[in-house]
Amino acid sequence: MMHDILARQDPEVAAAIADDIRRQTDEINLIASENYASSAVLEATGSVLTNKYAEGYPGRRYYAGCENADVVERLAIDRVNALFGTEAANVQPHSGSQANMAAYFATLAPGDRVLGMQLDQGGHLTHGSPVNFSGKLYEFASYGVLREEETIDYEAVAATAREFKPALIVTGATAYPRIIDFARFREIADEVGALLLVDMAHIAGLIAGGAHPSPAPYADLITSTTHKTLRGPRGAMILSRQPFARKVNSAVFPNAQGGPMVHAIAAKAVAFAEAARPEFRTYAAAVVANAQALAGALADGGLRIVSGGTDNHLLLVDVSTRDITGQEAEDTLRAAGIIANKNAIPFDPLPPRVTSGVRLGTPALTSRGMGTSDMDTIAAFVLDALGAGSDERALASIRGRVNKFASAFAVPGVDNA
Ligand SMILES: *Cc1c(COP(=O)(O)O)cnc(C)c1O
Repeated sequence: MMHDILARQDPEVAAAIADDIRRQTDEINLIASENYASSAVLEATGSVLTNKYAEGYPGRRYYAGCENADVVERLAIDRVNALFGTEAANVQPHSGSQANMAAYFATLAPGDRVLGMQLDQGGHLTHGSPVNFSGKLYEFASYGVLREEETIDYEAVAATAREFKPALIVTGATAYPRIIDFARFREIADEVGALLLVDMAHIAGLIAGGAHPSPAPYADLITSTTHKTLRGPRGAMILSRQPFARKVNSAVFPNAQGGPMVHAIAAKAVAFAEAARPEFRTYAAAVVANAQALAGALADGGLRIVSGGTDNHLLLVDVSTRDITGQEAEDTLRAAGIIANKNAIPFDPLPPRVTSGVRLGTPALTSRGMGTSDMDTIAAFVLDALGAGSDERALASIRGRVNKFASAFAVPGVDNA
């Protein structure tokens, strides 16, 4: 991908972009929340639609000249509703956090009670963290996972819901490797008269591709990012049942946001069409097969996998059995050209800046066309790197092999894929 004009006019920014193209090509990206958008998605993102102000919604704008903005926003709405089988969609949220903010504004009053997943067991900051607006504006209680199985403790969700009587129950996670039982959450919500919000940010692409059950039959509202497994541009959306549509729209604009990013909405429309293709089903299945292959190979190498494996695109590795911390594992892997993030494991004795685990995800590698045998190679790199510890020469040698291996795979959006 060339940036000729930018390179001439602003060599400093162009150089940083060129460096990141090289980084994205040479490294093994195991960040579970990242992916590679297609060339078509990138073209729409980089289009002149970024110039347009289009406050409001299709057919009801506060600016003139919105006819083409209307076209792309309607396409995005229709395509995403068809993709997930939902009744209403708002495709304007700039990020997943802002989608959640708007979803809360649409359904809650400040001070209302919400039940969400515990942050150190997989929940998101916007699910009630005290440092986030959610924990400041609403009264949150939380649920977590069973100590032995490390899967969601549905009995405890139900018991806490009965006692706490939340107005809203939130499920969805950033670091949970198992299928979420949305029907069970619906049952619990109905029993206590709560609404159900599913934040499917991490698994939206798996759901679109049929590799994870859909929350659509069960949730009142669904929020999601568009840039994770879904492979769209950076951004988000809110899907809902029709009775919530008006409240959701006014909660996004004018309540939480100003003008929509029309270029991003166009790119979302492109991504939703890509996710509706048969190839995307193959992709979603391959993401899960790769995560399971990686988990299996790492377990064979003596690492403990949280909950014993994975049903989705990510795995949590407990590195404490190797007498290292999550932070040390992240640093060691990075020195070997493998990018992953430290992550708390359930009941982690170490603080969030250190942790006992690393989170590994396969969406990005699968977008580069890697398969299960490549996961065996990557597991060997990971095990070698963790074994090398602070031996810098050994890590540099692994990095050489990692770069050679990774750069043989095309990067979508960079190599015209
Ligand atoms: C990534 C994520 C978000 C937030 O998305 P941003 O675009 O980073 O604001 C919200 N909820 C969950 C579950 C996520 O995984």
